[in-house]
Amino acid sequence: MNAISPMRLGFAGNRLHRGGELRTAASLGEALAHPDARVYLAAGDQWALRSDHEHSDPAFSVAEATRLLDGQPIELLLGHDSCGRPVLAARSESLDTRIAGSALTFLDLRTLGTEETLDADTEGQLAQAAHLLNWHANTRFCGRCGAPTVSEAAGFRRRCTACDHLVFPRTDPVSIMLVHDGKGRCVLGRQPQFKPGMWSCLAGFVEAGETLEDAVRRETLEEAGLCVDEVRYHSSQPWPFPGSLMIGCMAETRDETIRFDANELENCRWFDREEVRAMLEGRHPEGLAVPPRFAIAHHLINAYIIGI
Ligand SMILES: [Zn+2]
Repeated sequence: MNAISPMRLGFAGNRLHRGGELRTAASLGEALAHPDARVYLAAGDQWALRSDHEHSDPAFSVAEATRLLDGQPIELLLGHDSCGRPVLAARSESLDTRIAGSALTFLDLRTLGTEETLDADTEGQLAQAAHLLNWHANTRFCGRCGAPTVSEAAGFRRRCTACDHLVFPRTDPVSIMLVHDGKGRCVLGRQPQFKPGMWSCLAGFVEAGETLEDAVRRETLEEAGLCVDEVRYHSSQPWPFPGSLMIGCMAETRDETIRFDANELENCRWFDREEVRAMLEGRHPEGLAVPPRFAIAHHLINAYIIGI
């Protein structure tokens, strides 16, 4: 029996009906006029939560959100929930910190994911909102002619005001892989910015003209000096920092000697199954650990250990 607790993958539970193909110029106004519309509000990368709801609901009414945003428009419709309620989002650097006499709490997505503060559906909706708000903020000008762009179809795309060029939200694929030797050992690395004691899977952006498998092989060779044979897809995770999709794989190597890239990694080495199990269960004698369970790296490592 596996001693490791059941896990939920962070940011992956979004069940909104996005309805992108159904959106018209009227969709945003209709959503804002809906009496049960829900609005998520971010200040930078922090999301507003009501303290008096035990931080369990980050949604505000349109009237509350409008007041908090101090006139800044709400332009992003994420979709409709299973009750038919529109769900919207906006970001402001000048949010009031109090509403209706109740204090607000602001938490970032990593904290919300780590602590599982929200239900999986809501957490996934906030991740969608963060990804799209990041994209809108970084796509204010046309890449073709340089003129300003405007949001349309309730935030589903942007259009250039001069040349009519249309741009759609982009998602950047990242390969993340648990490299193993097929005999009970796996490779984990440490990036310099990791907190002390934490080790994780190798990872890197998929580059132009690559298959996912090619990216896994290239990144593993570049970062650890190991040639990978078989690559097997495992699972994927939305990663809104700022707008990626983490694509998790298992990769097997017959090479023994790790030669890691010191420009990318602080360290990289083999770990045997029992040591990794101790890290997953928080009982490693030297305090070594793997990423928190909201991260796909944790799931890949766990899947390897329990033999999935
Ligand atoms: Zn243009």
